[in-house]
Amino acid sequence: MEAMKYFYELFSMLPRQGPGDNQSTREAFRLMEEVSSEPYVLDIGCGVGMQTVELARISNGAIIALDNHQPFLDKLMEKAKQAGVAEKITPRNQSMLEMNFDNNTFDLIWSEGALYFLGFANGLMKCKELLKKHGYLAVTEMVYLLPAPPASLQQFFEKEYPDIGDIQSKLVLIEKADFNLISHFTLPKSAWLDNFYSPMEEAIKLLKKKYTDNEVALRVFEDAQNEINLYNKYSDYFGYEFFIMQKNT
Ligand code: SAH
Repeated sequence: MEAMKYFYELFSMLPRQGPGDNQSTREAFRLMEEVSSEPYVLDIGCGVGMQTVELARISNGAIIALDNHQPFLDKLMEKAKQAGVAEKITPRNQSMLEMNFDNNTFDLIWSEGALYFLGFANGLMKCKELLKKHGYLAVTEMVYLLPAPPASLQQFFEKEYPDIGDIQSKLVLIEKADFNLISHFTLPKSAWLDNFYSPMEEAIKLLKKKYTDNEVALRVFEDAQNEINLYNKYSDYFGYEFFIMQKNT
């Protein structure tokens, strides 16, 4: 689909492809008190890898960075080289829907803003299989932060992100999947703006000029701008929650 080309062009101009920041990545890692000193890590849906590089800096682990968009993986490895951690990271171009690692392989699975492609409940089950006994899982997931979100917001999510629910509904799924919840916290609004929506607005401005007569491209950028506007209007109602868990057995 032609539109995807422009979507990827826009997203490849950003320091990350979803909300997040290094401070939150560090905080989630710090909460894993008993993680192995040299963990084998899988980062699912790593994008250009801001969190992968940070994990490599703080974990002393070996990390598989998995994404199905090769240009993101290329950027990730460039950034890893600049940060001096490239030897700790192995890029893997594969769909998360087709992961074929052996069961009980990883000490730690990480996925910021990406596990919803598997569906949260299904993603938890898959990660549980891949984790070693007492392995850790850190995931960010979209949630409603206030009850009774406005109808227009609900309509948007029904179309774009039907898995959204309140924090409690995610905790129920975590318990059902038999994970031990270590902690959870809401990403600050700055994590949406500084590394994601602010650079996206700048990129949209540039790309609108580049593709001034291209209707397909302009529609993609307009949709992205509408999403930013929606966040600016309703950011009290929804956000990303970091869930940190441990496999029980
Ligand atoms: N974790 C990164 C990127 C989040 S955006 C961050 O927080 O910045 C979601 C990522 O999932 C994108 O990089 C996208 O290419 C990737 N993705 C989407 N569908 C996928 C699939 N089926 N398999 C693997 N990666 C996928």
